[in-house]
Formats: sequence, C-alpha cells, structure tokens
Amino acid sequence: MGRGDPIIPGKTIGILGGGQLGRMFAIAARRMGYRVHALDPSPDCPTGQVADVEWSAAYDDVDTALKFARAVDVVTFEFENVPYETLQRVAEIVPVHPAPLVLDTTRHRLREKTFLQTHGFPVAPFRAVQSVDDLKSAVAQLGTPCILKTATFGYDGKGQTRIDELAQCDHAWQSLGQPMGVLEGFVRSTCELSVIVARARTGEVLTFPVAENAHARHILDVTVVPARVPEATKGAAVELAVSVAKALDLVGVLAVELFWIKDESAAGTLLVNELAPRPHNSGHFSIDACVTSQFEQQLRAVCGLPLGDVELLRPVAMANLLGDEWAKGEPRWERALAIPDVKLHLYGKSEARPGRKMGHLTAMAGSADEAERKVRAARAALSP
Ligand code: AMP
Repeated sequence: MGRGDPIIPGKTIGILGGGQLGRMFAIAARRMGYRVHALDPSPDCPTGQVADVEWSAAYDDVDTALKFARAVDVVTFEFENVPYETLQRVAEIVPVHPAPLVLDTTRHRLREKTFLQTHGFPVAPFRAVQSVDDLKSAVAQLGTPCILKTATFGYDGKGQTRIDELAQCDHAWQSLGQPMGVLEGFVRSTCELSVIVARARTGEVLTFPVAENAHARHILDVTVVPARVPEATKGAAVELAVSVAKALDLVGVLAVELFWIKDESAAGTLLVNELAPRPHNSGHFSIDACVTSQFEQQLRAVCGLPLGDVELLRPVAMANLLGDEWAKGEPRWERALAIPDVKLHLYGKSEARPGRKMGHLTAMAGSADEAERKVRAARAALSP
C-alpha cells in the first residue's frame, strides 16, 4: 500500500490520547469496520474501553509509541499535549494526521497566536510575558481587564488569571507557575461561536454549522446550533475557519473558537480565540444532529476518504455533564430520557470530580430556542 492510498475499512487506526474525544472517534471508526488502538497513560481510559487494543504508556515513552506505530496504518490524536518528539518519531513509521507541526503550532498559545497574527487572522491584542516585569509593562500597554494565560497545558480555563489592576501582577505571575505566559486583552464579546472544519488530503474542505457556545466557569456549558447570529456573521465565521485550515495545511478536523462582537457592520467583529486540531466539545451536537458526525469526519479525513455531508438535520442543543452533577448521588437518568428526543452520552469515567467532563446531553427540536430549553430542562431533571 502506498502512502497516498486511502486507508479503507478493516485497517487499523491508532489514536494518541484516551479521553472522550478518542472514545467517540473509536466508536465512529469501529462502526465503519476499522480496528482501533488507543495509547494513553491511564489504563481503562474512556477510549481504551471501546478500542480493540489499549496501550498504557506515558506519552514520552518513545519505545512504546514506536511499537504502537508499527501496529497501525495511520495515527491521529485527540489530546494536544502529546510531545512533539513522540509524534515526529511516530510519523517516521506511519502517516500522522493532522501533521505534527500543526499540533506543535496549536498546542502552544504563543505560537498559535503568532501564527494567526502573521497570517492576518483577527485575534485579541496579546503580549508574550516571561517575567513579572514583562507582565507589568504588558498590562500597562493592553490596559485592564486582561487575562494572563499559560503558554501550554491550558484548557477549560485552567491556567488563566484575570487581572483587573496592576497591583495583581505579582500574584498572577506567581500563580502562573510556568516560565512563559501570554497576556490577552479582555474581549467583551456578545457571544462565543465555534466552527468545526474538516479538510481532506485532496484539499476538499467542509464546515459544520456554526455553533453558539455558552460557558460557565470558563468551561463550555451549552452549545446551540444553528447559532442565533446574523447570516453574515455565520458566513464570515465559516470563511475564517476555512482560511485557517488552509493556512495550517490541515488534514483532519479543526475547531476554531471565535469571539463575536456585535457592532454596526452586518457581520460584526470576529476574533479567533483558540484553535484545536481535533474534534471539539462544541461539535458533539453533530453526532445526533448531522448526517456525518465530527468524529466520522475526522476518520474520513485521516484515512484519505471523501468527506461526509455535514447537513444539520434538526436544530439541536448540547449540555455538558460535569462531575458536579454527581455531587448529590447518581443522576436520575430516566427523567432526562423520558424526553424522547434527548440523547445521553457518557464517557465511561469512574470518578466524578467537580469540573470533570463526564458526558453530555443533546436535545433536538423545531427551533434552536426550543432545543436549548429542552436540553437545559433535561439536565435539570437529573438532579436526584
Ligand atoms: P480558553 O481556554 O482560552 O478557550 O478560554 C476559556 C474561556 O475563557 C473562553 O471561552 C472565554 O469564555 C473566556 N476567555 C478566554 N480568553 C478571554 C479573553 N481574552 N477575553 C474574554 N474572555 C476570555
């Protein structure tokens, strides 16, 4: 088999990272007749539970990663903090999609912002900071409020500190706990949007319907699709996402998170907040509500197959289920499932810690507003 041939059903996909994104990918892949190997440091991880083979090893255990690479036909990832060296070594043995360089750019906030800025994509003003003095001058330049973020290992608002006055700099710098940070101007957005874009090896590009996202404590809480913003805004968001995917020379799936600021212009202002070169929490609606899910699309893209139709079948809303839902005991699943077009997805995590993503609900309805009401009601009904 040449490197350009499609990887057809029956072949074996390797996935680096064993969380819920890998799990939903593995389910999509196995449904289409592929074999799946998952590599993650924790045994019995959400992906490992549904994969054909689970490899338990640290991500920097290159020897095991190479054995894993020899056992599969293509490798993708669901986790951004796989070391670049591991990915590069794996890529010498087997195709890796998206390319290791894409991951290296997007997993580091400063490299990602610099990439976006140098390609002319709109981002919030930012400064790289490497000391408390850097931070103070950056705060003076950008003004308050602003947000100090870690350059790496930041997700779901972890590693973020809001700074409202210069006097908070010392404490913010100490709590960063990393030698490098990125200070960003605070964006007063009207709402947050995201676009999941898929790009095939041939350069074919498709985008899922634009999603509208609400956060709670910096963690995605509810996604509503279609987004309740002007058509011009959606058009501009899609155009941005496609351009970013092309600029990255992406093969796979990419999530583009956007801030939208309503103004006098037809589309308003869009700023790119973050990129993730993989399926994304805000794209989970696609499993139940689109012809092709973001996970099947990732599979098709990394296997060199044609992309699937991304049409939205019905308006939909998704609500995350965090570990907090378990605080008062086992959620009352039967109550949420009594609503016929509510769907339950659980990720197989045994320990329900506060803030931990344990699963999600989706609800479909005749309108986006109705879908949102329904999914929120379904989640509220879980409380024992
Ligand atoms: P992030 O980890 O960068 O995606 O941030 C998580 C969430 O924090 C975002 O979705 C926003 O709700 C909020 N946030 C992050 N950066 C900013 C910013 N510069 N201005 C305002 N809100 C922000």
